[in-house]
Amino acid sequence: MRTATLPDHVTGLLIDGNWQPPSGAGWLDVVAPAEGAVFARIAAGTEADVDRAVASARAALSGDWGQLTAVERGRLLGRMVEAVQDHAEELAALEARDTGKPIAQARADLIACARYFEYYAGAADKVHGETIPFLNGHLAATERVPHGVTAHIIPWNYPAQMFPRSVGPALAMGNAVVMKPAEDACLTPLRMADLMIEAGFPAGAINMVTGLGREAGAALSGHPGIDFISFIGSSETGIAIQTAAARNHIGCTLELGGKSAQIVFADADPARLVPTVIAAITQHAGQTCSAGSRLLIERAAMERILPLVAEAFAGVRVVMPGMEGQLGPVINPRQKARVEGYQARAAADGLPVIARGRMSDGLSETGYFVEPQMIGPVPRDNPLAVEEIFGPVLAVIPFEDEADAIALANATPYGLTAGVWTADGARALRVARAMQVGQVFVNCYGAGGGIELPFGGMKKSGHGREKGFEALLEFSTLRTLVIRHD
Ligand code: NAD
Repeated sequence: MRTATLPDHVTGLLIDGNWQPPSGAGWLDVVAPAEGAVFARIAAGTEADVDRAVASARAALSGDWGQLTAVERGRLLGRMVEAVQDHAEELAALEARDTGKPIAQARADLIACARYFEYYAGAADKVHGETIPFLNGHLAATERVPHGVTAHIIPWNYPAQMFPRSVGPALAMGNAVVMKPAEDACLTPLRMADLMIEAGFPAGAINMVTGLGREAGAALSGHPGIDFISFIGSSETGIAIQTAAARNHIGCTLELGGKSAQIVFADADPARLVPTVIAAITQHAGQTCSAGSRLLIERAAMERILPLVAEAFAGVRVVMPGMEGQLGPVINPRQKARVEGYQARAAADGLPVIARGRMSDGLSETGYFVEPQMIGPVPRDNPLAVEEIFGPVLAVIPFEDEADAIALANATPYGLTAGVWTADGARALRVARAMQVGQVFVNCYGAGGGIELPFGGMKKSGHGREKGFEALLEFSTLRTLVIRHD
């Protein structure tokens, strides 16, 4: 794991098909969260770099890239399936070191990554327009066309998945891409962009500008030369992105935070729900937008089911990336302080800790590890019940009946995902369809998985849909043609 780093030639910014140094003098240190030590550096892209990247993407649209047919774009994306599979171990080790997650999780992320490329490779030539019954002597039709230059800003939690999820559908539709990955973890996206150049993507189709959000990110989202923004990140930054998009009168998709509920009725099957509920809050130390961070449990199930969840939670192990266990550290000292701040506030409020995860022997003393905690019962107005913590903290909140469960599940500003656990099919449907969220799981929980499944939020979790076929529609716009032939 210690040797995982980028090949020497992958350095700086990828603009116009070439790796090049940033125009300013700036470089940023990359810290491995499990080690608390610097192991790489990335370029601090500037406004001038963003300018060059946008110009390169614009030129690609009228150059080789813009000439390709949909099937040819799909074939190029298809080459990335093999490229990712061929480099899976290298990429997984890099992802584990850069994000701190256990290597098993990083390997799973790389499988998902290849699958994104596979899905969008196959879909590239399957987006059709329609004909519309209109006046006699006229043919009216629609066609889907790319936006043009698309800007992509992604977070640090799942860079190996976010990269293909964001650029895959954009490229399939024929856009030219400029990505600003997250400063905290972006090495696998850089390596994958490099593999895309190797796979034959024409210069300018994919450009990568690393750097700080408030500098490179703000310069990209506010650039007058872009035609659409795809943003995945916090609800707070989402406001800045949407404001920047409004100034240029362009569209954007916002995939933001969440406070997702697992709703457990007394008739639910514990054998099925317990491991899933635990994984949904511990995966990547709870730093998952769709983390199931609230366990809403019917009061009648408290005695039978809650002890089983607590027992499994107490078996969760915090590990170094190379070890076997459920979770690693959080991403940086700020995030550690944030999570521990919520835990301290809960303790000060007198909230009982029902179960604690185990810190393994051999954790680096300089890594950003936090103790996983299952806390409850949590009062409904406590910050633990409504705010996104983005850490391994499970808030347990009892409910009385179906109506109470629905009201409680919807009582946060967020609306990303929900899980419903019950043996009663009609109730499962009623509750699922009452959820103000973009994705609901019944007697299962995908925790963001499912490349084929449209994904996105309601309320403060954002708008627009990524993943699945829906993403192809988001990354394109509609042109209507009317041809008179009488
Ligand atoms: P963040 O908003 O701080 O950063 C996300 C990206 O935005 C980074 O690349 C960052 O550099 C950039 N950025 C920051 N400020 C910017 C600005 N002013 N202008 C332009 N770009 C800017 O979020 P984060 O802390 O990296 O990620 C965690 C958040 O992301 C959580 O809220 C999580 O729920 C959310 N998230 C959502 C999804 C989803 O699909 N809904 C997926 C993963 C993460």
